[in-house]
Amino acid sequence: MNIARIFPAVLWLALCTLSTPAAGADPAFRQWLDALWPDAQAFGISRKTFDAATAGVEPDLSLPDLDVPGRPAPQREQPEFVLRPADYLKDASLARLAGEGRKLLTEFGKTLDAIEQRFGVPPTVVLAIWGRESGFSRGYRPGNNAIRVLATQAYLGRRKDVFRQELLFALKMVEDGEVKLSGMRSSWAGAMGLTQFLPSEFYKYAVDFDGDGRRDIWNSVPDALASAAKQLAEKGWQKGQRWAYEARVPKAVDCTLADPDVKLPIAEWVRRGFAPAFDRKLSAEEQAQPASLLLPAGIYGPGFLILPNYFVLKDYNFSDLYVLFVGQLSDRILDARAFETPWADVVQLKTGALEEMQRRLTELGYYSEKIDGKAGMKTRLALGAYQKANGLKLDCWPTAAVLDHMRGRTRGN
Ligand code: CA
Repeated sequence: MNIARIFPAVLWLALCTLSTPAAGADPAFRQWLDALWPDAQAFGISRKTFDAATAGVEPDLSLPDLDVPGRPAPQREQPEFVLRPADYLKDASLARLAGEGRKLLTEFGKTLDAIEQRFGVPPTVVLAIWGRESGFSRGYRPGNNAIRVLATQAYLGRRKDVFRQELLFALKMVEDGEVKLSGMRSSWAGAMGLTQFLPSEFYKYAVDFDGDGRRDIWNSVPDALASAAKQLAEKGWQKGQRWAYEARVPKAVDCTLADPDVKLPIAEWVRRGFAPAFDRKLSAEEQAQPASLLLPAGIYGPGFLILPNYFVLKDYNFSDLYVLFVGQLSDRILDARAFETPWADVVQLKTGALEEMQRRLTELGYYSEKIDGKAGMKTRLALGAYQKANGLKLDCWPTAAVLDHMRGRTRGN
């Protein structure tokens, strides 16, 4: 064999060994990851940590919210049906979690009191966040490699910039020795620990409350709960105030008053025919609090007079149903009663129909928020304004009949 014939074969073999990726590996992803290095370095991450944390990491295409080339449509976390308040706020789950919460209130009473002393957030609210985020971490085993989740979302997700930043913070957590690489476990959305923090939130809010020198939001209940309380405190939690009062709504309520921008003292709402549920007696101080009206199911369920703390919880997680869940759970830990007014058995439109309604309301000038297929506060409000202007039954609840009515008044899209 002459050398000229051997050489290309040897070269080819050598190249194969050096550059052929392992089965299933994605060279473009690896390139993208390598290109992250300068920013990681600028973030204070060492080459050693960077290499160890990214070794063998491949994108996880099973995650939701990805925009994968070759797939028919972006994978979106959007169910065909939007949950109705009654489905999200399942009474059996609330009752069960409240029962567990009551036990934990005793078990962690001293810690929770100390947390309230320091951050001004009541024990039941902190417990309710824990209950909602991870079911009090019963059997909670976050199975995902946080680095892999964050890298995948930064590479293929719909909010790449957000997750790229979170990935850098996650690498920094390893670099700073906050957590071992093997302990970097998260949910599919990259949230970590008992109260589900993203890495940037860890740096903003995590505290070492049990005094062992580590901020351990994965295993230490005092650390995790104090961190959640700190987050609420820094988002503006008003000490000594509730999140909301459930209110009996007058029969002929104008549901377009359920606008977060309409703020009236509670005494004024009472003058207009609203009454605190369970005939709750309010002090003069409570009655003077400015509150907005919330009707999560239009006129077909309980109403709430919501306070600034409602919006603090909403800042923790944007969903109104999330806030109602946490608020109601926090109340039920102390008082087992369900909402006084039950949810009526309403039909919820499908996501696609709600999106269409939002587009038509936008076209008609009633709506200027996101087209997200959800029957949120602003959508119900816009719908109520449309019903009012067209002399339709005013209930602020999206139905097929109202959508049909809109179809006659819009070009359609
Ligand atoms: Ca600690």
